[in-house]
Amino acid sequence: MSDTIFSRILSGEIPSTCVYSDDEFYAFRDINPAAPTHVLLIPRKPIPKITDITEADAALIGRMFLVANKIATKEGIAEKGFRYVINCGEWGGQTVFHLHLHIIGGRPMSWPPG
Ligand code: 5GP
Repeated sequence: MSDTIFSRILSGEIPSTCVYSDDEFYAFRDINPAAPTHVLLIPRKPIPKITDITEADAALIGRMFLVANKIATKEGIAEKGFRYVINCGEWGGQTVFHLHLHIIGGRPMSWPPG
């Protein structure tokens, strides 16, 4: 069993502000938002990193982006544009090893990231 901050959020042990929930996914507001809108979307399945997905997860990951698009629309950031980020591993800046998609928007963003 993996035990991360996010598995403890999923179990309700750590409180979070829910943005979306279904059988497969949970989304909540980032505790340290990088922009006016910063939502974290996670699969309930505890996949540590995006590089850990297998063929069996292909449909799940597809559905994750469909859910993310719904959240972006509901949050009112889809029209102007926003950013999806998946950090992977130490040099990618990943700090919580439960796969998560950052949905970030509500202000203009620069590229490339630092
Ligand atoms: P990573 O750096 O792994 O891509 O992103 C982890 C994110 O989780 C960070 O943006 C961080 O602010 C957020 N985070 C860490 N701990 C908590 C927590 O307890 N609650 C919430 N809502 N977000 C958290």
